Amino acid sequence: MKIYFVASEAVPYVKTGGLGDVSGTLPIHLRKIGLDVDLVLPLYKQIKESNYLLEKLFSSEIIFGDHLLSYSVYRQENTLFIEQDSFYNRGEIYNTPSGDYPDNNLRFAFFPRVALELIYKLGGADIIHVHDWQTALLPVYKNIYYPNHPGKVILTIHNLAYQGIFDAETVPMINVPLGYFNLESLEFYGKVNFLKGGILFADYLTTVSPTYAKEIQTKQYGFALEGVIFKRNKHLQGIINGIDYDYWNPETDGNISINYGKDSVFQKKENKKRLLTELNTGCSFEYPLFAFVGRLVSQKGIDLIIEIADRLANFPANFIILGKGEKKYEDEIKARALCHPNNIIALTAFDEILSRKIYASSDFFLMPSQFEPCGLGQLIALKYGSVPIVRKTGGLKDTIQNYHDKTACGNGITYDNQDAEELMDSIKRALSYFPGENYINIQAIGMKCDYSWTSSAREYLSLYKQLTNNKE
Ligand code: ADP
Repeated sequence: MKIYFVASEAVPYVKTGGLGDVSGTLPIHLRKIGLDVDLVLPLYKQIKESNYLLEKLFSSEIIFGDHLLSYSVYRQENTLFIEQDSFYNRGEIYNTPSGDYPDNNLRFAFFPRVALELIYKLGGADIIHVHDWQTALLPVYKNIYYPNHPGKVILTIHNLAYQGIFDAETVPMINVPLGYFNLESLEFYGKVNFLKGGILFADYLTTVSPTYAKEIQTKQYGFALEGVIFKRNKHLQGIINGIDYDYWNPETDGNISINYGKDSVFQKKENKKRLLTELNTGCSFEYPLFAFVGRLVSQKGIDLIIEIADRLANFPANFIILGKGEKKYEDEIKARALCHPNNIIALTAFDEILSRKIYASSDFFLMPSQFEPCGLGQLIALKYGSVPIVRKTGGLKDTIQNYHDKTACGNGITYDNQDAEELMDSIKRALSYFPGENYINIQAIGMKCDYSWTSSAREYLSLYKQLTNNKE
């Protein structure tokens, strides 16, 4: 079975969040169970500058808007790259600190348009698997340009909050006939919505956890697309993301000070000592370290942490926040850290090596998310023996079970509502467990959990078979 993944980011080449982890590692695990999977990415500046050995396949051109645009295709092993320098040879992938690139409408229309062309030039596919709004126009283009060609298109929604909504003037600029600009297709309150197009034209939809698959059909989590998704719910499935334990493993992670596993988890303390020393903080090594690693946007509940930061600083505990995102959150968390240099550390960067050191050093991992399609942070934290404290939503609800001291069951600490006091109570509960028997129990249960790709990759395989009527 020939499968193409088309995505706007993928490890190891380029990553801004969980989408990059999933589109980079799921194909590896699908190949392990016998599928022939190639990945298509834009050739970003970051990739060009990283000395990957890319083999040029061909150059071509395509009518885009009212002119001919050229592009070239490169390959490295199972990854194909589409080069169009005016779109992708830039400092960042999606945005600069001052906001989204104003031509993201063209950049992420051109990419799926050319990816589709490329796939048919290379002999076609049984399944084309696209991800999020940046590639959601591919099934629309297939409907327009290759309506009778074989190949089913699956759209995975990694985060419904990001939809790719642009002014109506975009429509003629991206080779979508005006006939598609109506409520039954791409129109969305007078604008054009790329994700809506994908939801309506893909053969099948998946999202990244069973709970999120239900949530996005409700007003609370639907971002005004709940009706459209509800209409397609016979063709929607939630498949929980896995993580790649070759990539995320404290026993082999070359970026942490001391490797450790389930039986040597006491080494976390040495990692903590070294990290806190390296960062030159006044934090006590004896205190539990609570970590947050994630985008600084309201979805992740960083506003709740900021709200209670001054009170948290009175606890015998340290807090480390690594995140990049909205300037107001970056400024506010840095201000709290300045006021409490012995308790709060704020690092406003995207730094994977530092994130690994934090997973390895921290005792607790905070994910107070307003909504969370799947969440990878808590899965990485489990593996690194950092006990997750999460709000019960989306994939957090599906992967983290609240610890009960009576039964000594549960791999984390959970709470129900997006509320600073509930988060506060959970942190107090965490402190009451640390460093005693309850803490040791939760940590050990978490480190034994298996959230590898093995079973999720099999779920994708059976979906692919179902869609292609493949009985093998
Ligand atoms: P999302 O995809 O919504 O950003 P996930 O929890 O699914 O959230 O995935 C986040 C991924 O990005 C994790 O691998 C996490 O470690 C990583 N990450 C997030 N912020 C940073 C950061 N500032 N530096 C390094 N890694 C980060």
